[in-house]
Amino acid sequence: MAQLDGHVTTATITGEIDVTNADDLAGSLGEIPGEQALVLDLSTLSYLDSAGFAVLDRILSERPVVVVLAPGSKLRRAATLMGCTTTMTSPRPKPPRERRPCHDRGMATIVAFHAHPDDEVLLTGGTLARFAAEGHRVVIVVACDGIVRPEATGPALRARLDELHASAAALGVARVEHLGYADTGHGSRLSADPPGRTRFGNAPVDESAGKLADLLRAEDADLLLSYDPSGGYGHRDHVRVHQVGARAAELTGVRVLEATLPREPVVRLFHALRVLRLVRRYDPQVIATSYSPRSAITHRIDVRRYATHKRAALAAHRSQTHGTGRAAPLFRALAALPAPIFGLLLGREWFVDPASGSTRTTSDNLSH
Ligand SMILES: [Zn+2]
Repeated sequence: MAQLDGHVTTATITGEIDVTNADDLAGSLGEIPGEQALVLDLSTLSYLDSAGFAVLDRILSERPVVVVLAPGSKLRRAATLMGCTTTMTSPRPKPPRERRPCHDRGMATIVAFHAHPDDEVLLTGGTLARFAAEGHRVVIVVACDGIVRPEATGPALRARLDELHASAAALGVARVEHLGYADTGHGSRLSADPPGRTRFGNAPVDESAGKLADLLRAEDADLLLSYDPSGGYGHRDHVRVHQVGARAAELTGVRVLEATLPREPVVRLFHALRVLRLVRRYDPQVIATSYSPRSAITHRIDVRRYATHKRAALAAHRSQTHGTGRAAPLFRALAALPAPIFGLLLGREWFVDPASGSTRTTSDNLSH
């Protein structure tokens, strides 16, 4: 039932839980170490009586848990009353021929392409949670495994990807894929490839775009989310995501929207964060040309209702919130905010439609 997955434990409970097996369930859940992030997948649970409910109530009162429910689950109201973070599983992929009626009902498949595990949260987490909750199929693809160190081996290489899976579960994402690359790093010099791995920045754009295009075709994707040309704040891997995303869109004809932030408030925010010492390195020149000017933004998605999902996804990246990396204090501060305040601060996400060509009214709907 419980599958240990590095720093994250996913416990899938299937079938019927009643007075005859509730004690077994309590025993199994009790064995999961308290310091691990716990995702409780109840999407295939068919029956739960009061004994089973009491077991879940106890575990939810003891630790933070992300609960995955099937769409329309009767447990949703109970889970909300218990104050836990819930997310829905997306519909399973269907063979291409059967998928048209799904498109006719306005359902779509959205592929979000990101550079590293954790990038999916801040720029697109609310959007992904919102569209998954509305019944669309959401897929996350990361180019890199989140590991720069060439000496990393074994489980250390999986740690960030495991966190990504937990984050994706909190957002209701149906599938997570890694294109197979290592991080390129952010310095002035390109580092050599680590043994047995290729850094994203060292791989030809056409090779990476070919892999992404294959995935877009296999998913029969309607929309690709990528990055703006500046790669946000100019990280080499983020700029490369823009290039690879644009090329894959060209190869497949899939519509692309580029995740970004309005540049003007970002410049102000970075000044404030620097004063608060929440960012250590800071290059005003880079920030001044970061993300996209407000006038270029075509889509502004209201994600305030998904603040809890987004915060849970952020918290799933434990190595970032608990680590010593330079973004760790910022991650910790964000993950600790109460949901309503987090919603105010991170309640909107922004996209540029590179095909729109000019300024237009911003839309709250990705389908047009
Ligand atoms: Zn990144």
